[in-house]
Amino acid sequence: MGSRECAHEDLEFLGSQRTDEGENKYFRCRRCGGVIVVTPQMKAYHIPGREESTG
Ligand SMILES: [Zn+2]
Repeated sequence: MGSRECAHEDLEFLGSQRTDEGENKYFRCRRCGGVIVVTPQMKAYHIPGREESTG
């Protein structure tokens, strides 16, 4: 019903991807299904997952 804010605390490491500046790390949130990208500058981006996710 109401969309609760997810703190993205239950993360699953997906892998990393090399870039010119270093390495991006990809995590998936088990709760909301979103993907968190951590850049070499330790900046984190959240990519929302599909709304209908199993689990
Ligand atoms: Zn989440």
